[in-house]
Amino acid sequence: MVNEKDPQAMALGYVAQATRADTTRFKTYLAGNQCSNCALYQGKAGEASGLCPLFAGRQVAAAGWCNSWVKKG
Ligand code: SF4
Repeated sequence: MVNEKDPQAMALGYVAQATRADTTRFKTYLAGNQCSNCALYQGKAGEASGLCPLFAGRQVAAAGWCNSWVKKG
């Protein structure tokens, strides 16, 4: 599982709870956006976490968020 204090997580503004996104640093955050509805998220619906290619081999929280969030097609 990705740790929020990981340097890459810090750089991307990743938080395990999307509602804790640093909206001062990252203006892109919109309420409701989270890993589970991000195009890059590879977890299955209903699971608490899943893989994200930005954090190769590590899981991110379904309820998490980062500045690279992309709307799922
Ligand atoms: S790219 Fe998407 S799935 Fe990956 S950490 Fe950021 S918001 Fe979550």
